[in-house]
Amino acid sequence: MSRRTKQVLSRVGGIVLLAVLALLINQYISESEKDISMSTSMPSGIMEVHFIDVGQGDAILVETGSSTMLIDAGENSKGTIVKEYLENQQITKLDYVIGTHPHSDHIGGLDTIIDSFEVGKVLLPKVTHTTKTFEEVLDALEEHDLTVTAPQVGDRYYLGSASFTILAPSAATYEELNNYSIAIKLTFGDNSFLLAGDAEKLSEDEMLSTGINLSADVLKLSHHGSSYSSSTEFLEMVDPSYSIVCVGKDNEYGHPHSETLQAVLDRNIKLYRTDEQGSVVFTSDGQTISVNTQDYIITEQELEQ
Ligand SMILES: [Zn+2]
Repeated sequence: MSRRTKQVLSRVGGIVLLAVLALLINQYISESEKDISMSTSMPSGIMEVHFIDVGQGDAILVETGSSTMLIDAGENSKGTIVKEYLENQQITKLDYVIGTHPHSDHIGGLDTIIDSFEVGKVLLPKVTHTTKTFEEVLDALEEHDLTVTAPQVGDRYYLGSASFTILAPSAATYEELNNYSIAIKLTFGDNSFLLAGDAEKLSEDEMLSTGINLSADVLKLSHHGSSYSSSTEFLEMVDPSYSIVCVGKDNEYGHPHSETLQAVLDRNIKLYRTDEQGSVVFTSDGQTISVNTQDYIITEQELEQ
């Protein structure tokens, strides 16, 4: 073997050795990456969030595996619609029932739900209201021996492989009943939903000052898309890709307000609305979100109102 051949061979050997080393290192890195991704534990299965069309009002069903939660149940007259919707989903028990605040378009149908399904934990804000609708909910709770929990900001609850954190209300008393709304950030793997009942700017400001990470993929535009909610600072912090407004056709309040629609448009946030599209269902596999309908195209006319 000539010196030249030896040199070539040893150089080839060196290159082969380097290649083998690179391969080993690469494999080692991808193994440790696998460890990291496994440690964040992607949830198994899917989570569905149903924004049930109850006209002017809220009713939101969360389902993951056999775990279920209902947030609000529309007006008194809509209780049966919500009950039938849940029955169509083969639901017999609800792990959590949240009544965001005592206005009738949120808690009105709750007595029908409490009478019809096995209910686990009930979350209500610490405030009373002197309406027949509110009394009926309290009566139904008492009849079924259910105690009420008033959640604290920062509390975390588990729903199958999903979890939710309480964001509001922070204060003990408010002038406006809407600001007592229980607000949650619901998380499933990498996906999250911010649901805040009828919380207005004051409550949104309080949420901003909790220090809790508010960023979410989906934002329910609070208070049916009212301009008293979804402030600039709040929208900036939540920075959603999707938004939804639960609202009744031709409602007397002019919801959703043009200011809110303009803000959604300016930020390129996809919009869905129950008055135009019926019940809207979001499905998450922990990484991506799909919706059962196309996003709503805001008209020029709606922005001018
Ligand atoms: Zn409302």
